[in-house]
Amino acid sequence: MPNTAEAAAAFRELLRKISHYEEALALMAWDLRTGAPKKGVPLRSEAMGTLASEAFALRTSAEMGELLAQLTDGAAAAELDPVVRAAVHEVQKEYDRFRKIPPDRYQAYVVLTTQAESVWEEAKHTSDFRLFQPYLEKIVAMKREFVEYWGYHGHPYNTLLDQYEPGMTVDQLDALFTPLRQQTVELVQAIAGSGVRPDVRPFRGSFDKERQRHLSRCLLERMGYDFSAGRLDETVHPFQTTLNRYDARVTTMFVPDDVRPAISSTLHEGGHALYEQGIDPALIGTPLSQGASMGIHESQSRFWENIIGRSREFWEAQLPLVQQVFPELSGVSAELFYRGMNDVAPSLIRIEADEVTYNLHIMVRYELEKGLMSGDLRVADLPGLWREKMREYLGVEPDADATGVLQDVHWSGGDFGYFPSYALGNLYAAQFRSALARDLPDYREQVRRGELGGILAWLREHIHRYGKTRTPAELVQQVTGQPLRADDLVAYLHEKFRPLYGL
Ligand code: ZN
Repeated sequence: MPNTAEAAAAFRELLRKISHYEEALALMAWDLRTGAPKKGVPLRSEAMGTLASEAFALRTSAEMGELLAQLTDGAAAAELDPVVRAAVHEVQKEYDRFRKIPPDRYQAYVVLTTQAESVWEEAKHTSDFRLFQPYLEKIVAMKREFVEYWGYHGHPYNTLLDQYEPGMTVDQLDALFTPLRQQTVELVQAIAGSGVRPDVRPFRGSFDKERQRHLSRCLLERMGYDFSAGRLDETVHPFQTTLNRYDARVTTMFVPDDVRPAISSTLHEGGHALYEQGIDPALIGTPLSQGASMGIHESQSRFWENIIGRSREFWEAQLPLVQQVFPELSGVSAELFYRGMNDVAPSLIRIEADEVTYNLHIMVRYELEKGLMSGDLRVADLPGLWREKMREYLGVEPDADATGVLQDVHWSGGDFGYFPSYALGNLYAAQFRSALARDLPDYREQVRRGELGGILAWLREHIHRYGKTRTPAELVQQVTGQPLRADDLVAYLHEKFRPLYGL
């Protein structure tokens, strides 16, 4: 048996190798979504399948099992440097997750979810839930079976939440979402009753794609994004992907008749990328060199997109840039631009929802997922329950499944427990904002002067550099001195939107 130092070196080497497969897969996936030729897609998918199986085999290999057993042993664990010890803990969780599922059941799950995604597409296209229903029933049954293999404390959904948001539970989410829902519903109703609607006509027009690209590049530069360690490309559904610590890529979308989607997507994905570019290089080659959780990652994108990018101060500073790129907007005031970026109204589609109503869309999904995993709800009842909850929370109701229960891809891939991360991102972002205001009381003045460097430096120091070496709860406590709570987001939304809508 190798001694502890040798085992630690072999462990790091194995992780490095896995990260190289990951890099190849990430590059291939990025390429598929940013311009790979259509005809090449089936063969590319096959190639990706091969690489993914290789990486999976390494992760669950006998060698990995032996190294983990040796490195988690009390005496050996005490000798490890803290980065390796934290990496061992992280990899052990993942190893258990894969090893606890019988291989034939996992294989069946991969086949099922691959088929389900194309059936979902067809069902959405024809707006017919019944097509998708038998697949979703099998996915839910299988996910519940997996939860039994994995084990759970309290609610079965807790195990799924933990995979995206380590440590998060149904009890905590209920305690956060209940007051947030009540206060948000009240605010949305007040806004709807105010009779105020921002004038969005100036944003309608014809906006040249190359100029939108130029504007997006300039905004990323002003945020502090390092183009020598990333790049910007166009896609249909924007995303950020990290190939390695020095290659964090951003994609955005260009809508020809509205300039706002490019701005919001660029700031959002740019926020994700800034997080990746700020992680301590000492964590390279380990699974700690990533965000603390999905929700913390989302807090960084939403911080830039909403808290900074939808603020009055930001547009006082940045509007001249937009007008330089699009002289046809030169008659628009910063105030009008600010208001146009903050149009609040209940709508059916989550990904198009505004800053206020967005969390209500998440709560609809959360309630349904929780019920499916406990066995209290049946898949067949989802379309009706969806309409009911939308009416209750948002006051609107879809007349077709395509704009209702079928709108998101997540369930077809078995991704239960993922949706709450989006709302958690908003909650974390608002609480981080309170801490930022405590440490940099003039941060808004800085934004008004177009100076974003101080804010980025603060995020780097308090959040980014830690990567995944802290749990979300530890990070929030460390940064804000409090556990996660709904108060900061509720206060932020009231403070911002009441005056905007004359309330
Ligand atoms: Zn995001």
